[in-house]
Amino acid sequence: MSDSLRISISGMMCAGCVATVENALTAVPGVSEASVSFADHSATVSGDVAPEAVIQAVTDAGYQAALMTGLDDGSEQQAQQQQEYRDLLRKSLIAAAAGVPLMLAGWFGWLPDLNQPGARPLWLAIAALVAAVMYAAGRQYYAGAWKNFKRHNANMDTLIALGTGAAWIYSLLVVLFPHIVPGFSRHAYFEAAVLILAFINFGSALEIKVRGKTSQAIKRLIGLQPKTARVLRDGAETDVPIEDVGLDETIRVRPGEKIPVDGEIIDGEGVVDESMLTGEPIPASRRQGDTVVAGTINQSGSFLFRSTRIGRDTTLARIVEMVRDAQSSKPPMQRLVDRIAAVFVPAVLIIAVVTALIWFNFGPVPKFSFMLVTAMTVLVIACPCALGLATPISIMAGVGKAAELGALIRNGEAMQKAARLDTIVFDKTGTLTQGRPSLRKIHDMSNAEYADGRLLSIAASLEVGSEHPLAAAIVQAAKGQGVEPGPVEEFQTIPGQGVSAKIDGVSVALGNARLLASLGVDVTPVQDVLADIASSGAIPILLAVDGRVAAVLELADAIREESAATVKALHDDGVKVVMLTGDNDATAAAVADKLAIDEVIANVLPGEKANKIKQLQQDGAVVGMVGDGINDAPALAQSDVGFAIGTGTDIAIESADIALMGSSPKAVVSAIGISRATQRNIWQNLAGAFLYNIIGIPVAAGALYPFFGVLLNPMLAGAAMAASSLTVVTNANRLRWYKPPVEVA
Ligand code: ADP
Ligand code: MG
Repeated sequence: MSDSLRISISGMMCAGCVATVENALTAVPGVSEASVSFADHSATVSGDVAPEAVIQAVTDAGYQAALMTGLDDGSEQQAQQQQEYRDLLRKSLIAAAAGVPLMLAGWFGWLPDLNQPGARPLWLAIAALVAAVMYAAGRQYYAGAWKNFKRHNANMDTLIALGTGAAWIYSLLVVLFPHIVPGFSRHAYFEAAVLILAFINFGSALEIKVRGKTSQAIKRLIGLQPKTARVLRDGAETDVPIEDVGLDETIRVRPGEKIPVDGEIIDGEGVVDESMLTGEPIPASRRQGDTVVAGTINQSGSFLFRSTRIGRDTTLARIVEMVRDAQSSKPPMQRLVDRIAAVFVPAVLIIAVVTALIWFNFGPVPKFSFMLVTAMTVLVIACPCALGLATPISIMAGVGKAAELGALIRNGEAMQKAARLDTIVFDKTGTLTQGRPSLRKIHDMSNAEYADGRLLSIAASLEVGSEHPLAAAIVQAAKGQGVEPGPVEEFQTIPGQGVSAKIDGVSVALGNARLLASLGVDVTPVQDVLADIASSGAIPILLAVDGRVAAVLELADAIREESAATVKALHDDGVKVVMLTGDNDATAAAVADKLAIDEVIANVLPGEKANKIKQLQQDGAVVGMVGDGINDAPALAQSDVGFAIGTGTDIAIESADIALMGSSPKAVVSAIGISRATQRNIWQNLAGAFLYNIIGIPVAAGALYPFFGVLLNPMLAGAAMAASSLTVVTNANRLRWYKPPVEVA
């Protein structure tokens, strides 16, 4: 059934490996698409294919792979990474244990001169020992280089293998045939070979540690789901591992317990804290017929519920899946970087050869020594990993942090675009306002023709059939006052305007001035009342009975507390704020005024919203649209970045580039902020990685020698290389400490 596999891959040392593994995976018959993430060392493979074939393909390419199964909680991968970490650390220690004494012995002259005839057995023993250590500490590089060589490929393994291998072979030649090299050059570089390995292994180990931290956001999400569920089977309650819970099972939740899967309450009730998924800080009471969601906490009460979504289908699992996909997605710019990384290693090989030739032909004596040291240092210092890691590791950290802040960013591209937004359009209702309007007052315009409650009763009768929030407010008010709605005929909804029907054969309509005008009702007698209501920011709704305005209903949709702070924070970021609404100009202007909004587009019919966005774009704006994701789908799609707000547990992510888990507009600010920070972080990483290589490689080649007489020590090159990719990862990790400008509750 599963048409997409996730596998965990180890042994990938550099960006070049990504392409190698991706090619190997797509070459497997049946695979339609394969995407490898260098940031978390995993791959997603889609197509009709057996997992074994996929794993085999990765193994053949020279890496290790394991299938990530079931409701993958990442622990398998974590264990694998822990193993890799310990392995690298151990190898680093072995190499250092051999290299440091050799280095000290060289410095202090404890070893006999190579030219002494009697010294040869000792030097041969050292050569053998070093070879053994190189095998123990670096066989993964040699094996990788060999596999690549057979495929006419080269990667970072090739560079390391050639660099350290050349050092060892040269040193052995000097020991065996001291006379083929001139006297000055008779120096062995055994310690360099092993210390380079020590540094590189140590750097890689640290990198794994830091990288693991980058993906902590997702672990937190996964951690929300309990490991077991108390299931009612054959009349008995048993604790069952979460993987074994089926659909349509009856599950007991007691006070203080987490809800294990999604479902519907069939008995009892509870007060459920859903803040982790919806951002809604106030726990909600849930009773029979209500939906409960995996990962949320039942604070008090106890209930039985029927499971409706399990495993990978729960809301939580879908959120995790989405964040994970986004974390490993490649922003458009990464394609270019990948191409550069692919030619990087061959280029370095050529530079190393050219360096050797130059030193051999034009260099000072001892030519052989200079030639070897410079070429070796070039090979070792060049670091394609930093380049390859720069983008994915930042995306990984940034997307994870965004999720922590309540913004689910669909992919790297959405993030790249969100960083460039200069205009944010808010759909007023439900984003800047609470979206739960209430009926404040009924202004009787009929000279008291109607009995008490009759006006409200007519209005409620009309609105029973409407799904608009204003309708709900009117029906609610009627209920509260004990007024019964009656039957209506020929009911009609006019989107963005109101409703009309017949009651006892009389035409009635309820809606805005535009609606009444279109029905030929004269609204001039109530103009003043309308203006009054609207100027306070409330919404006037007109009730027409038999062609005359009978009443004006005053509805208020309270402005959210955090709206003003949100608008201000956007202004601080240099973003223009626009409000889009179907309300009349005056109401909209009053609200906009309170919030210091830059531009108001009022009186917009629902179908026109996308067009308004398009107009802004044509004027050169990069537009983000914040809406509810259901009614506003076309506008969200038209905008450069669509933010679906208040979707909470029911993720309408399909129509949005960014889904905000809570209902607060503040998350928009966080989402833009973290996107910008991530983008900056990527540039820093790329600039750092390029600069490192652009400076490092010439210095390693000896560019400073003619001027200052200095050459780079090959061991330092190994350390610098390890440090460069570690720097990139550490820099990306800074995103974890990102603080949004507006605190999210
Ligand atoms: P928004 O863009 O703010 O969500 P809508 O386009 O849904 O607004 O509605 C615009 C206006 O149309 C409302 O302010 C109201 O005056 C009127 N309207 C729409 N539906 C109804 C309804 N069911 N009952 C009364 N008025 C309505
Ligand atoms: Mg609306």
